[in-house]
Amino acid sequence: MAPAPFAFVTLVTNSDYAMGATALARSIRLTGTAADIVALHTGGVAPDDLAPLAALQCRLIEVEHLPLSDAFNERHGRKNLHGAAPFTKGRKPDFHTPLDNFCKLRLWQLTEYDKVVFIDADALVLRNIDRLFDYPEFSAAPNVYENLTDFHRLNSGVFVAKPSWETFGRMLAALDQPDVFWRRTDQTFLETFFPDWHGLPVFMNMLQYVWFNMPALWDWDSIAVLHYQYEKPWEADHPKADLLRPLIELWRAFHEGREIPALSSLPKPAAPS
Ligand code: UDP
Ligand code: MN
Repeated sequence: MAPAPFAFVTLVTNSDYAMGATALARSIRLTGTAADIVALHTGGVAPDDLAPLAALQCRLIEVEHLPLSDAFNERHGRKNLHGAAPFTKGRKPDFHTPLDNFCKLRLWQLTEYDKVVFIDADALVLRNIDRLFDYPEFSAAPNVYENLTDFHRLNSGVFVAKPSWETFGRMLAALDQPDVFWRRTDQTFLETFFPDWHGLPVFMNMLQYVWFNMPALWDWDSIAVLHYQYEKPWEADHPKADLLRPLIELWRAFHEGREIPALSSLPKPAAPS
């Protein structure tokens, strides 16, 4: 069968994110899309961890890390990055390796597709979003989870891109400059590489912290992609787990293949205090 012209693409570099990608892939399947679902994965991911993705008819594509200098890799290693640009708003799990994030850029090599929508492995698609394939490169939603100033920045957990070897080559050249430090890795890089990025509706990448920080923005009838930034829903007893209980329960239903409750039946966030 010829490949579809469009694909949803995610990235998996270890077994934790394979778990995330499994819930994501199931959620995308349930939207009834005809687009491919592609999981880019690094060589170290165990076949057993990828098997659930294959069972969901995902295309598994093995990728290498980008050819970056030792100095670049050192600067963006977990310890150095957390030291130079600490995370103060939330906590990154131990299984998160910042350098792995840059592998997302490999999707520009998937030139068999006219357009792709990248989605982080820690997200769920809650309704059909095929119309995103009509959006231009580079489209992303704002990084909103605390207040209005967040609208100045994009979040790279969901974005629309057009694969192209030419673009990929230019990205590699722009990425690894002497002494350059991308404090939020691919996100900072993409914002810089595409200064005129197009804005997607905030509901195309609703960040979990909105649930408790900006409850007035929460609307189950509008949310298309729910993104569990910072702590992950499969982490046992993370510091925000009590606050985020209904969202974690929803993720589990997707991951375990249970029936998905009607979104309109889900609890509403607590009113601001
Ligand atoms: N990722 C991965 N392994 C890692 C770090 C990141 O596979 O060690 C991939 C995965 O798809 C993940 C995405 O890159 O969803 C971005 O990382 P994450 O979602 O943890 O960042 P956050 O959304 O919390 O900023
Ligand atoms: Mn994420």
